Amino acid sequence: MRPYDTVMTFAAIIVAAGTGTRAGPGAAKQWRSLAGKPVLRWSVESLLNAGAQGLVVVVAEDARATATEVLTGLTGWTLAVGGATRPLSVQAGLAALALDPDTPVLVHDAARPLVTAAHVRDLLSALENADAALPALAVADTLRRVTDGRTETVSRDGLFRAQTPQAARAGRLAQAYRNWAGPGEPTDDAAVVEADGGRVVLTVGDPALMKLTYPEDFQMAELLANPLAGAARVTRIGQGFDAHRWGPGEAVWLCGVRIDHDQTLIGHSDADAGLHALTDAILGAIGEGDIGDHFPPTDAQWKGASSDLFLKHAANMVTARGGRILNVDVTLICERPKIKPHRAAMRARLAELLGLPLDRVSVKATTTEGMGFTGRQEGLAAQAVALVETPA
Ligand code: MG
Repeated sequence: MRPYDTVMTFAAIIVAAGTGTRAGPGAAKQWRSLAGKPVLRWSVESLLNAGAQGLVVVVAEDARATATEVLTGLTGWTLAVGGATRPLSVQAGLAALALDPDTPVLVHDAARPLVTAAHVRDLLSALENADAALPALAVADTLRRVTDGRTETVSRDGLFRAQTPQAARAGRLAQAYRNWAGPGEPTDDAAVVEADGGRVVLTVGDPALMKLTYPEDFQMAELLANPLAGAARVTRIGQGFDAHRWGPGEAVWLCGVRIDHDQTLIGHSDADAGLHALTDAILGAIGEGDIGDHFPPTDAQWKGASSDLFLKHAANMVTARGGRILNVDVTLICERPKIKPHRAAMRARLAELLGLPLDRVSVKATTTEGMGFTGRQEGLAAQAVALVETPA
């Protein structure tokens, strides 16, 4: 298995069509502010940061504008209009995502804002051996049942509180919803898969996945949300180095730009040492090996390949784990060709390939004053660093 196969693709449905009147008067709870951020925005940001590829927020018809407003500035989400009930909303979300049947999909309640990448990882790994997975917390309090004013203790043995997100593969979940025959309405997705004969497993629940139901829940969630805001992400650095030998030719590729030259760099791909060093820097920042692990030189399909592909792959791996590249810096080391006339074009090309603003991308060049293999013009070398931010 190649290392990048370990990044599991998943999609997400956030159900936000409820009106939530139990949380008191005023706006429905998903639009209210929690620790300075709208409740809905918390889970959308977290699931995108955790690597959701395809995220749909299911809202009531008259809430589209509100949802768009509270999600301003985020990319990677879409809206769908929900039905009158939670099951109808989930199915509307599935239809909107139009996923491959094998893609894991997480269904999440907007009213549980404090979901993290760790919750997502647990669910996806549990789903490898189950039809559905959900976080659940053991019931710690003694339970009492009240009937007609009389109360009695109820055994809590084996009882758990179900939370969300709940995970299932898209095709399995859609099938289970189609087959649901009652009685009544299911309260969650695991119940639907279970009724359809699926195997459901529990992951370790988290008090932070609490559902905002009553007004006092907001106070508790504020306490939980504040430390989370600062601890959620880490910054990582990676460095890369590459060198290629000069040989007969008429042009050379450097940092994604073709330069007319009286020699070319020899290599299995297009030998763009600048892109190779930068690709390795990005892979290094996320601990995913090096360019040769992902694109083996023994593999004929990479012969003569444009190194743009390698760089984009590394950048996509950062995105897939919910990260982003903060800035990159490349140094080309050669006597010839002169790099300075091409620096602006290289910078623009790297910015385009990485989807970064120009001021986050740097290309520099130096000679080694005639010393060493670059000085003797046997080859060209490149160094790069990349700074990356990912979920903790
Ligand atoms: Mg190389």
